Amino acid sequence: MSAPGPAAHGLNLAQQEAVNYLHGPCLVLAGAGSGKTRVITHKIGRLIQSGMPPQRIAAITFTNKAAAEMRERAKGLIGRSAKDVLVCTFHALGVRLLRQDGAVLGLKPNFSILDTDDVTSILKDAGGTTDAATARQWQWTISGWKSGGLNATQALALAANEEDRVAAIVMGRFEERLTAYQSVDFDDLISLPLKLLQNHAEVREKWQGLMGHILVDEYQDTNATQYEMLKLLVGGHAPNEARFTAVGDDDQSIYGWRGATLDNLKKLPIDFPALKLVKLEQNYRSTSAILRAANNVIGPNPKLFPKTLFSELGEGEPVRVVDADNEEHEAERAVARIQSLRAEGALAQEGAQYKEFRHFAVLYRANHQAKPFEKALRKANIPYKVSGGQSFFDRAEIRDLCAWFRLWSNNDDDPAFLRAVTTPKRGIGHQTLGALGVFAAQYKVSLFEALFSPSLSSVLAAKAVGSLHEFGRYINDLQFRARQTEGADNARTFMTDWLKEIDYEKHLTDGEESEKVAAAKWGNVMEFCDWMAQRCGGEMDDATGVTTREVKNLLEVAQTIALLSTISDREKDQDQVTLSTLHASKGLEWPHVMLVGVTEGMLPFKLGDNPDDSSAAQDDIVQRLQEERRLMYVGITRAQRSLAVSWTRRRKKGREMVAVLPSRFIAEMGLDKATVKEDPREKLKALRAEFAQRALDSAAQAAIKR
Ligand code: ATP
Ligand code: MG
Repeated sequence: MSAPGPAAHGLNLAQQEAVNYLHGPCLVLAGAGSGKTRVITHKIGRLIQSGMPPQRIAAITFTNKAAAEMRERAKGLIGRSAKDVLVCTFHALGVRLLRQDGAVLGLKPNFSILDTDDVTSILKDAGGTTDAATARQWQWTISGWKSGGLNATQALALAANEEDRVAAIVMGRFEERLTAYQSVDFDDLISLPLKLLQNHAEVREKWQGLMGHILVDEYQDTNATQYEMLKLLVGGHAPNEARFTAVGDDDQSIYGWRGATLDNLKKLPIDFPALKLVKLEQNYRSTSAILRAANNVIGPNPKLFPKTLFSELGEGEPVRVVDADNEEHEAERAVARIQSLRAEGALAQEGAQYKEFRHFAVLYRANHQAKPFEKALRKANIPYKVSGGQSFFDRAEIRDLCAWFRLWSNNDDDPAFLRAVTTPKRGIGHQTLGALGVFAAQYKVSLFEALFSPSLSSVLAAKAVGSLHEFGRYINDLQFRARQTEGADNARTFMTDWLKEIDYEKHLTDGEESEKVAAAKWGNVMEFCDWMAQRCGGEMDDATGVTTREVKNLLEVAQTIALLSTISDREKDQDQVTLSTLHASKGLEWPHVMLVGVTEGMLPFKLGDNPDDSSAAQDDIVQRLQEERRLMYVGITRAQRSLAVSWTRRRKKGREMVAVLPSRFIAEMGLDKATVKEDPREKLKALRAEFAQRALDSAAQAAIKR
């Protein structure tokens, strides 16, 4: 038996059992806030202490943000050696595998990673349509096939109807294009490494040798391909000795719509009969009042594994239900609640817990719900950050710059080429680009490669060829300079020069009627460049999720940017309220949480107005309702000390306001009706009066003393 080491500190017996079990497969299955993630961080320390080199430990998290947080926690626990542990997402692990060993699949080490928009535009082209909705539908279908491990030929063979048949054909053309562009999409970051491990024994053995122990957080949200990848990576040992630790909660599985499957949980004890199952029952996060509401909501769902969860943190404040007329009112009330909780904290002279903005989160179902809250917070001068959305990177100006970066890092990235060559406009028109495209397709080369071909002059006028050459040389030059540019200051100078060279600021002002909007866009550009520069200075790389403290050159940094979805991490140390989607809040916790927009139609999301009554359709509705219930459970269990749930009586639908009902989940929380309702504005008024009174009192006392 292994002796409990320092990892035992701050762990209960069940957690210690999981942490100290080092030589076989282990599954920790437990409810929210029971310390699953804590098991992972402590186990990293325990493994190192047992003599495992940190480089051979991989901890897989669900988001880059979670990876960053885990890295921090591990560092706090075990110090510097934590930096050598590979803490990343499955996707980032896939990038690592492909960059190192993708050559056997015909991938160059500097392949590009396409984002959703690029994929849509390639699909439009592949399917011969200009309709974005059709392309997005294909994207969805194809992504589903890919995460289920199907390629185009297999999808075509299995196509059940005409729609699927067309999508499978488009998928085939899409695959050809990706190969030609030396690009991969997000699904490929899992499916290609899997192919690599399955079909190339030498690569498989190398990685199996590298992986001493793999820890997977949020295991319930893995999909079939991720599970296969995991199995192959730990396959260097007999199944009874497979070295991995998975932690998860079937009640928090909320990515079913993206192909995650609870089958992975069910399969684990079958594929690994020696699996050690550890259950955790104590919740260390929330008060009893909050936990009771959570347990009540999740109660009606069928149980994969029975679990009980209790808290010793006391009953705590009752959960509040706040109703509002419309979203603006709802947002005002949320702000009033933040202010009154802070004021209360100040009056009670509590510690920082009650006072700092970072201890508050507003959680909602869909990204677009953030807007009224952003406005209300700005109005009240309260700092906030939006996480979980792609708002910053989705901005056109940022995507413009990214296209340039992608083109330097991979000249064969045609979508990036097309965007960069036309942004800002440089006198190379559609006709020229059209002819270049035909020429490139004919010779099966990328647009960039075609541009330097001597025979291009047979299809294009000398002037057009001249402009293309000029552009090509400029890209080569940037690429060369970017490779030489290391460290934050140099990167900053490089980017300032480059933006001047292409006259990007003018491009923004010319394209924008309003000066204010153009200035805001330019502000974003500056912010983005600064952030890129910081990455060159050797900060943690949240694109690949890999800890690298060494200084990087700009080209290396540019190569990873397509993987980024959010840069909100840059603000992580600031004192700000978090606005987040429920999906992005998974695994995190805040002292005060407000769940907003909790209405029928939003949470649970519309389950279909006119369902046909076939048993398959009914079954689908049941499944979806179960996933919605889990989403609500995730939301409630983010709260440590206080929770408010709000809903609006009316909601904007197009131009009209329509009446809506509170979510069924509010009633299901089983709150005591006498205590739950509140109007935070009234409370704030009372608190302000009390503050004023106290100020008067102390002034009076001071006067008396004098
Ligand atoms: P989720 O299901 O939401 O991902 P989780 O099971 O991963 O939750 P953690 O985030 O690891 O739970 O832990 C929840 C909180 O409880 C954290 O603040 C953690 O530090 C604390 N905690 C966990 N275990 C213990 C323990 N044994 N003693 C004291 N605090 C603990
Ligand atoms: Mg967790």
